[in-house]
Amino acid sequence: MDDFMPKTDDKPPFEFLSRKPYTPPSWAANLSPIPSHIFSLGHFPTPIHKWNLPDLPEGTEVYIKRDDLSGMQNKIRKLEFLLAEAVAQGADCIVTIGGIQSNHCRATAVAAKYLNLDCYLILFTSEALIDKDPGLTGNLLVERLVGAHVDLISKEEYAGIGGVALTNILKEKLLSEGRKPYVIPAGGSNSLGTWGYVEAVREIEQQLGKGSGGITFDDIVVACGSGGTIAGLALGTWLSGLAAKVHAFCVSDYPDYFYDHVQGLTDGLQAIVSSHDIVNIQNAKGLGYAMNTTEELTFVQEIAKATGIVLDPVYSGKAAYRMMRDMAKNPEKWEGRKVLFIHTGGLLGLYEKTEQIAPLVGNWRRMDIQASIPRQVGADISNSISGWSDWKEMGHGTYISAGGWSFLLGRLNCRYGKLHAVSLRITTGFFVENTIVLAEGKMLLDGIFQVKTCGFPPL
Ligand SMILES: *Cc1c(COP(=O)(O)O)cnc(C)c1O
Repeated sequence: MDDFMPKTDDKPPFEFLSRKPYTPPSWAANLSPIPSHIFSLGHFPTPIHKWNLPDLPEGTEVYIKRDDLSGMQNKIRKLEFLLAEAVAQGADCIVTIGGIQSNHCRATAVAAKYLNLDCYLILFTSEALIDKDPGLTGNLLVERLVGAHVDLISKEEYAGIGGVALTNILKEKLLSEGRKPYVIPAGGSNSLGTWGYVEAVREIEQQLGKGSGGITFDDIVVACGSGGTIAGLALGTWLSGLAAKVHAFCVSDYPDYFYDHVQGLTDGLQAIVSSHDIVNIQNAKGLGYAMNTTEELTFVQEIAKATGIVLDPVYSGKAAYRMMRDMAKNPEKWEGRKVLFIHTGGLLGLYEKTEQIAPLVGNWRRMDIQASIPRQVGADISNSISGWSDWKEMGHGTYISAGGWSFLLGRLNCRYGKLHAVSLRITTGFFVENTIVLAEGKMLLDGIFQVKTCGFPPL
């Protein structure tokens, strides 16, 4: 059954993509069930650094945890546990579901292929588009490149039938074809997936313990779309010594739905706690899931320009927008606090918004160059030995072409007419030689010049 490497739990030569037995942090040891294994699929720990946001309340410091740099945003933390279970169960394919630009579906499709598993995606979109080629924008491009199977449904069908029933239909079909599907719910948000952000809390604890100058965070702020991320963060923060307040900004549904959903996820891990006591959930949905106002996109653009941090429009962009609005409206709530914002990634989602973003971004122009500027030939030309024998021949005096050849380096301050001392450098994997050639010739085309006479020391 379980024949994916490693057969034993010997230490693999490379950690990435290896599967290891899992031991929870001591403060989570009473949760149940505890996953038996974890795959290494992301790049952790993700960095934490100061985020110099403009116009913060008096004394407020914001830090950012770069889960956008994990390799596959927040979803990969959940997939490390979910795919370990899929492999343990002998699955040969993964079934999951999400919106047409679901980051979760893209991360699942890619990670499944890492592990040599097929991936079946059910993507919901507007009624008018379900019979059309869904195109190659953003996440779809990646999903289709890695060969995920895509089934389209309408938003109405998704709302009416529900994700569980829809994935079951596909699962039954695959079973009848002799496949061994493993189903992951929308967003990877079930109790097993929740461990991903329980682990992230351990990671934050370790980062704070390691030479971070005794910093502690008063608040943790994150976007919420299917609830698994905040469930793990809130539960981990409550159980561990982190002692921060977790604030979630939900971008779909409503806070009450997520209080219930988080409750279900933590109950599923036998945690005796009320979701209302471990997380504060506020609405950041705005116009609707994956829909943006111009103010939100302008905010994303301004923050990118001011800080270099590119927020996604669907999740972290909305969460940070609402956080900043709350800071402006109720500065006393935030004054003097140290806030950790978790950037959950999702950059590919921006590609769907290019039309809306186009009027907001900077100008471009054609570069202004005067025709008389001489060409300078630089070191980038020397790269291969392919011209070696011709070079010798050329040494007896016919021509050199600088463009495709391997040996010209130094400055050729000539345009038409005489070439003076030209420094030649021959570089190969085995051989480097510098010499000087005296030559006379003319520029034929950009980068190609003709030598009438040339002489240099014998080889
Ligand atoms: C899915 C997602 C979230 C929300 O995480 P959930 O666990 O689904 O609540 C946040 N940011 C990005 C970029 C996501 O793709």
